[in-house]
Amino acid sequence: MPETFKALVVDRDADKKQSVAIRDMTLDELMEGDVVVRVRHSTVNYKDGLAITGKLPVVRRWPMIPGIDFCGEVVSSDDPDFKPGDDVILNGWGVGETHLGGYAGLARVKGAWLIRKPADITSAETMAIGTAGYTAMLCVMALERHGVTPETGPVVVTGAAGGVGSVAVAILKKLGFHVIAVTGREAEHAYLTDLGAAEIIGRDELSGDAKMLDKERWAGAVDTVGSKILANVIAMTQSNGAVAACGNAAGMDLPTSVAPFILRGVSLIGINSVFVKRADREAAWARLALDLDRDKLAAMTTTIGFDQIKETAEKIAEGQVRGRVVAEIG
Ligand code: NDP
Repeated sequence: MPETFKALVVDRDADKKQSVAIRDMTLDELMEGDVVVRVRHSTVNYKDGLAITGKLPVVRRWPMIPGIDFCGEVVSSDDPDFKPGDDVILNGWGVGETHLGGYAGLARVKGAWLIRKPADITSAETMAIGTAGYTAMLCVMALERHGVTPETGPVVVTGAAGGVGSVAVAILKKLGFHVIAVTGREAEHAYLTDLGAAEIIGRDELSGDAKMLDKERWAGAVDTVGSKILANVIAMTQSNGAVAACGNAAGMDLPTSVAPFILRGVSLIGINSVFVKRADREAAWARLALDLDRDKLAAMTTTIGFDQIKETAEKIAEGQVRGRVVAEIG
């Protein structure tokens, strides 16, 4: 166990002005938990971008080590389920928000929050997937539970060139869906086609005020942006279709009506990846090992060093990151 380790720390002064610094920390400074993990990889999700820039109040405890997920090796454990040397993944549970997170050489967390790394995914790949990819899988599984299949019709993905969107496009393509990608970045059209999008719609087309009901265009949707775009997506969902909503990149509001729900039987399914019981997490990770093409995952992933986390967080908060980012920690 190293005596000190590097950590990216977000703090704020008496005037609530936020600062971000990399500094050395000791194990004593970490919060309570029964398992200590040497972090190998983390990632930069949109929420990490919000935490580091302070754009939205993600951080609830000061000082905070952001990083809502990590993959690493157990170095000590009081939890009988884990022993030193085990490879583990953590995502969610308020880590990086209320509990010190993954942008550090060591993390101390509750064993109950950890799951074992699937043997056939590397540590770097787990974080290429990360909370974003895991959330994409939760969305796809929710649509499946609702009866959306390649036979029922196309699936639309909003914020498609982002992290959740990219993984959702790749998974849905592998499952045989006709995937429609919505993006605001024309420069990413070729990227989205390579990932598996059969059609691409410009973000502007869905950014106006939504009609109560619009032309039926898809059987299912993975929405990562919210606001008017989600309202349009719902209004364009075919009878008895379903929309999995997980994000707010365009806003927290949802200016819609009850018409799609009561006249078309459309279902809006909320996805929250943070608090999901272990069995469901393991099921989602097992599906990711099976249903996400590794070459596509590699094509959507950029790897950065510890020193680049802050600048990447600033970019993702502005919607300027393509696909997924792996941060090498240890
Ligand atoms: P990214 O920043 O990687 O992707 C978001 C994408 O949304 C962007 O790439 C962009 O896609 C699009 N976008 C950005 N700004 C706007 C805007 N103003 N209007 C419309 N579209 C916009 O983030 P992630 O993929 O990591 O996360 C996506 C969303 O999902 C976030 O809101 C995040 O908080 C949420 N999330 C929720 C989780 C949950 O548990 N519910 C878990 C993980 C993420 P493009 O350029 O293609 O248009």
